Amino acid sequence: MVMKIGIIGSGISGLSIANLLKDKHDVQVFEKEQQPGGLIKCERVQDCLFHKVGGHVFNSKNEKVLNWFWGHFDKDSEFVKVKRNAKVFFNNSIIGYPIENYVYLMKPSLVKDITKELLELSKRPGKSPFEYENFELFLKGNFGQTLFDIYFQPYNYKIWKTDLGTISMEWLEGKLPMPDYAEILYSNIIRIEEEKMVHASFFYPKDGGSQFIVDRFKKELQIHSGAAVNVVTEMEGHLEVNGASFDKLIYCGDIRKLPAFCKSILAESDVDVAYLENLRSNGTSNLFCETDATDVSWLYIPESFTEAHRIIYTGNFSSSNNKGSKRTTCVVEFSGKVSYEKMLEESKKLPGNLKALACNYEPNSYVIQDNRTREEVGKAKKALEKRGIYLLGRFAEWEYYNMDKAIEAAFSLAEHFD
Ligand SMILES: Cc1cc2nc3c(=O)[nH]c(=O)nc-3n(C[C@H](O)[C@H](O)[C@H](O)COP(=O)(O)OP(=O)(O)OC[C@H]3O[C@@H](n4cnc5c(N)ncnc54)[C@H](O)[C@@H]3O)c2cc1C
Repeated sequence: MVMKIGIIGSGISGLSIANLLKDKHDVQVFEKEQQPGGLIKCERVQDCLFHKVGGHVFNSKNEKVLNWFWGHFDKDSEFVKVKRNAKVFFNNSIIGYPIENYVYLMKPSLVKDITKELLELSKRPGKSPFEYENFELFLKGNFGQTLFDIYFQPYNYKIWKTDLGTISMEWLEGKLPMPDYAEILYSNIIRIEEEKMVHASFFYPKDGGSQFIVDRFKKELQIHSGAAVNVVTEMEGHLEVNGASFDKLIYCGDIRKLPAFCKSILAESDVDVAYLENLRSNGTSNLFCETDATDVSWLYIPESFTEAHRIIYTGNFSSSNNKGSKRTTCVVEFSGKVSYEKMLEESKKLPGNLKALACNYEPNSYVIQDNRTREEVGKAKKALEKRGIYLLGRFAEWEYYNMDKAIEAAFSLAEHFD
């Protein structure tokens, strides 16, 4: 049966589900911003490509996602495959990543402590990540106190601005750094050049960054831009939004800001609406800069001499990103809201002779989960589904999705509409 389906939000989640459903159903997308894309949108500044949030690259371990994604693009002519070359800025120099493989570059007292702790840990019986009560205990239990103090704690605190002891393990599934003690020892003894190590790689559009993905995905869709959906009503079994009537709605916005009608459905069920409304997230501030040439893709900055926690060398992903510059370009990332003046000041402490071109603040970039989140969101999904409303995406499901995981979630949801 052909259904009329309204999709709220045109980030990668909304665009994916709309494309998955459009051939069988009558689909319309509502986007509150003028420009579709959500977190993955980009713009050109002085003819250089600015990822307004992060520096989005694509890859997936899921064959189904890959096949579907590449069905929309010509992988060879429209994308480049880039080697991930992550480094750490530590003690005023650039060292390899993961940092535990480069302990030999640290001062002898640290080397001594770290070696002793890692050796002790390697003798203990392995413990599954989920046997640890929280993220802090997991990091200490796997990497030792010294690496925790000099790297994991300061770096993660800069990002999350939250006590790592309160971060639940469930939330970090699939994203945990796991030490390989034999490899740590080997790398530190052999002092293997990073170039010779096996690296993960990723795909990146030749022209236009992740905006290229948005532009392709939106091509065959009916998208109403500048059309925030703030009110949903129910009329004779149909759901009405912005003057149009639908059989089903898919909400890809922020679960905390569900329209009142949806919240009233939740209030009638056993969902703790106040809990959902008070979920915590972190924003990010980005300073887009010109920089001196480097072959690094991501530079992690754990130490507290600067508030910046990462530089993403987006100009190295595709040379077309630097059209308007004689140098290359990068994005300096800060957690939370940081003023332009402050970011400029901080950029002077960083390597690369950075010259600012533009900045952006995104209030919602990282979701913060706790032990109750999945259960409450799960209950909310069930209650809304009974009334024809579905939640999908990073902020609607409050999941730490990357693009590929958001696409995977869209696949699962699409099965409801077969
Ligand atoms: C710093 C950073 C770096 C990242 N890097 C990568 C990476 O390299 N690779 C990767 O795969 N993933 C990366 N991610 C993750 C990726 O950004 C997300 O998985 C993805 O963009 C989430 O898409 P979404 O559609 O679920 O949400 P969003 O992108 O937030 O889209 C939601 C959309 O809904 C719209 N909307 C909300 N409410 C309403 C309403 N009431 N009415 C109408 N419209 C509404 C919003 O305007 C927005 O366009 C990164 C994330 C961050 C924060």
